[in-house]
Amino acid sequence: MVSASNFYSEDKGLFSRSLNSFLPSTAIVPIEEEKSQIPVEPVVSVGDVVAEGQIVAVGGGVNVHSPVPGTVSAIGGEQYANGKQGKAIRIKLGGKFSFVGKKRSRHDWRALGRDSLLQVIRMAGIVNTFKDMSTLFNEISTEERKVVFVRLFDDDPSRVVDSFVAENFSEKVIEGTAVIARACGAAAVVFAYEKQSAESRRIYRVSKDDGSPDQELFPGIAVLRVGVDGKHYPSGTALDLVFASRSASKALVKDNPDIAGCFEPDGFRDSSALFIDPQTALSAFEAAVERVPVMGRFVHVTGDCLNSAAILNVKIGTTLGEVAEQCGGFKKKLSRIVVNGIVSGVCVGSLDVPVSKFVKSVEFIPSAEVRFQSVENCVRCGQCRKICPVNLWPGNIYRVFRNVEDDDIHDFDDSKTVIESARLCIECGLCNSVCPSRLPLKQMIALAKSESI
Ligand code: SF4
Ligand code: SF4
Repeated sequence: MVSASNFYSEDKGLFSRSLNSFLPSTAIVPIEEEKSQIPVEPVVSVGDVVAEGQIVAVGGGVNVHSPVPGTVSAIGGEQYANGKQGKAIRIKLGGKFSFVGKKRSRHDWRALGRDSLLQVIRMAGIVNTFKDMSTLFNEISTEERKVVFVRLFDDDPSRVVDSFVAENFSEKVIEGTAVIARACGAAAVVFAYEKQSAESRRIYRVSKDDGSPDQELFPGIAVLRVGVDGKHYPSGTALDLVFASRSASKALVKDNPDIAGCFEPDGFRDSSALFIDPQTALSAFEAAVERVPVMGRFVHVTGDCLNSAAILNVKIGTTLGEVAEQCGGFKKKLSRIVVNGIVSGVCVGSLDVPVSKFVKSVEFIPSAEVRFQSVENCVRCGQCRKICPVNLWPGNIYRVFRNVEDDDIHDFDDSKTVIESARLCIECGLCNSVCPSRLPLKQMIALAKSESI
């Protein structure tokens, strides 16, 4: 285990407020970020005038909305913030806003049944960004979800956006969680806060006697609050949340044996557990209570290249270059752009890449801080094996997957078993951080994992 403080630099403290980001002159709206068997297709054409919040693409259980009013200027291939390529709709800003600057009224979602809530979630285009990105409607409509775990802090220590949303919008996060729990037909909700965060403890450990909204918001649903040790990396994985909840869930499991698997470290992956983060819950609140679809994200913008760091409320489709400008532009030559955390995120190659529903943070890194990654040989130092929190041998999986000719490989299990072990990888990226050969272990293991499923 590595202390989280090893990954912090001093300017990455918590933020107490966010800024609304500049509106993009042209929003580049990705429509195929979440790969699905049902393709997402545009329902607008070049030249169409669209309203803010209008649906511009549908399919795969997710709707895509225009984040700004304007005119569709192009539909074509673009680079995405997750490092992939896909279709996007360009919308040139112009016209009146339907949501920005308007007072939001409150709608009573509690009168809605489960099917109606599922449709609210589908229509609003909500994605679950607990890990990577998945379509929330697909996750909760195709499988039974009996326990909803909410991680209230960041799982990558170089970003603070989940903690920011949890602490600054706590009531909305709690109510949004209630919306999702009711849409799932869940029997229990687990709020997992970071033990070390006093603010998080204060907000989420309210006892029922102190006016907790539990009974009103979660009728018939058990609510647990558990502290997770956030001092070490990785913390905040699905496995960490399950481990942290084990003793608190004992009485609950006794009364509901059906949900026992959700609290089993060996069995939760095949159980009916759902894991969400604060922005997913906030999106559900906005959809059900305020009738506002997903058109923006809170993004932690940081890095030694920038003149200042900030939490920005960014419209989907704003380019990373526009985001950097809002932080005062660059004071050092830019070398790398890392999306979603320095430890577990992805590198993107251009400032023209748009912010999408997938983005939680952007780090602009100067060349002095970059150590280049190369595909050289594994020197079998064993560092990756020592640090892996789920006891894999990343270097071994890497070698087998790349079909490196290596006599020693016969000292291990057969190649199929080795590749299959990649399924246990939680993609924390720690192996990459210690490898003296700078091998792209996490990335290669993720590939092995996707091919072994
Ligand atoms: S990325 Fe996967 S293989 Fe590497 S240390 Fe983390 S869990 Fe282990
Ligand atoms: S840390 Fe790198 S060089 Fe060392 S055993 Fe692992 S893969 Fe090989």
